[in-house]
Amino acid sequence: MITKRREKTKDLMLYDLLVHRMDFSIKDRQTYEKMKQGYEGERRFDQLFDETNGDSLILQDLLFTHNNTTFQIDSVIITADTIFLLEIKNYKGDFIYENDKLVKMPNTEIIQPLHQLHRSEALFRNMMLGFKYTLPIKSLVIFIHPHFTLYQAPVKIPFVLPTQVQSFVQKLHRNSTMNITERHHLIAKELLNHHISQSKFRNVADYHYDELQKGIYCRNCKQFFDIAYPERKYLVCAHCNEKEDVNTAVLRCVNEYKILFPNEKVTTNNILDWCAIITSKKRIRKILRENYEVKGTKQWTYYI
Ligand SMILES: [Zn+2]
Repeated sequence: MITKRREKTKDLMLYDLLVHRMDFSIKDRQTYEKMKQGYEGERRFDQLFDETNGDSLILQDLLFTHNNTTFQIDSVIITADTIFLLEIKNYKGDFIYENDKLVKMPNTEIIQPLHQLHRSEALFRNMMLGFKYTLPIKSLVIFIHPHFTLYQAPVKIPFVLPTQVQSFVQKLHRNSTMNITERHHLIAKELLNHHISQSKFRNVADYHYDELQKGIYCRNCKQFFDIAYPERKYLVCAHCNEKEDVNTAVLRCVNEYKILFPNEKVTTNNILDWCAIITSKKRIRKILRENYEVKGTKQWTYYI
């Protein structure tokens, strides 16, 4: 049973929009790729639980602050007799385990996920001392990418390799069937009460309206439409032939504008400039009026 679902982080949402409208620095591109890959891996793991309907309680993507330290856990699974803390890694390629280090072959040492997880586990354990109920805690690193290979991993290391993930999930379900009680639900509830929202943490570099490309891009291939269509009902992509209703395309852009510039008002002029290829002010105003609540009057009109 999924008690808390993972959502795309605000940072990833911003990057997903910005990538079409600006040139990223090398650092931003790397951060974005890493974030995107991590999220895809986590979602791939989540889907295994969507497909199997077990009794264990699943809490995805939790963030806590304890003893002035903030720590995040990719998935917490409460089974009948154990609380599993899972760190999900979407690494791809050949890796070797040497002297407690993880090395991407041939020779790039990467941060050992176990160290990170042990630190989180210690904080988690400590936090749970204040809870009414508890259970034994076990931490594991899940390697989810099908093209991940690890050489020389000791048998007892708490790693779940791609070929073991499926049976690991099934085992969790088997262990918890029929044995989840009120006590387990209370633990989940306490964890949720301690969970803090991600919104405070933003890693995306500053961006400015002026440096973003204006216009509407195709919802399918993400290429910008380069011709103005003053009277047409549809936009048709010159690259992939995707056809989209102008109203829907404009609303998609308004939505983007609202996410990227939450402090700016949605006005006819702002959206006219943002969409760029729809040159009729009347048309933009009509779309906004039909889909949003009108606030203010005359030149001070805006939409929410
Ligand atoms: Zn297209």
